Amino acid sequence: MIKIKNKDKNKPKVLKTNPNPENCNRLNKYVREILFNSYSGKCGYCESILGLSSPKTIDHYRPKKKVKENSKHKGYSWLVCEWSNLIACCQLCNNKKHISFPITDEKDRIYKKQADPKEWNAKSKSFLSENPLLLHPEIDNPEDHLIILRNGVLEGKSDRGKQTINILDLNRDPLVLERFKILNKIITDLKNKAKDVLFQRQKNLIEAKEYNEGKYIKSKFKSTFQRIAFKCKGKTRYLFVWQFAWNNYDILIRELPEDEEIIRIITKAYKIYKSLKNN
Ligand SMILES: [Zn+2]
Repeated sequence: MIKIKNKDKNKPKVLKTNPNPENCNRLNKYVREILFNSYSGKCGYCESILGLSSPKTIDHYRPKKKVKENSKHKGYSWLVCEWSNLIACCQLCNNKKHISFPITDEKDRIYKKQADPKEWNAKSKSFLSENPLLLHPEIDNPEDHLIILRNGVLEGKSDRGKQTINILDLNRDPLVLERFKILNKIITDLKNKAKDVLFQRQKNLIEAKEYNEGKYIKSKFKSTFQRIAFKCKGKTRYLFVWQFAWNNYDILIRELPEDEEIIRIITKAYKIYKSLKNN
């Protein structure tokens, strides 16, 4: 999952004036395409390419007919065409989530349509006070709630993170494998570069040559970090994994069964490139 920005700006005109939200029949092909494009053609929950491993669907973040966790609730029918309630979603995540929408405390659940349509927005005060446990890709910052282990398994940093993983089954084998493949490639590359730095250090020691190791590390790791930085932008598949690898290198290398010097060199390289990016 990644944070989706600026989706509000894309809201289709046909949804801006909505006289009959409970019987809305306006999720036509045009609306669907704008939604899928707002999510860069990826599932808003698992980041799989829509239509590739499973069909494109629309998930209603707040379910429209029933709520699994509350048998008395008739669903949030008035949000059937609410733009902020529509999540581009793969069939697999949609099947897993279905009508699930747990909140922290059932006493905060909203049963009736709010009088002010502005409150139908998922970011509204009334809806935020429901304290949903499922992360919303347009509201929440997934990095605050989720971490990726070296083996590609997603883990919750918060209760909401854990609940989101469970509701959507985000540790399905193909997803874990994809995350592992990306992380493994990045780490293997970093380790090989660090070994080259060590080799160069020993060579220069034997030859009694003076050299600037910081400069050498900078040039040696350049292509790796350029690649990560490039992947951290735009429509990259499994963008969250790349962003995680860039922002949480300490977590990644903490799990490395390597000697301390390799880890020290990788840490130094990250620090050099992070300071370059921040300046
Ligand atoms: Zn999905």
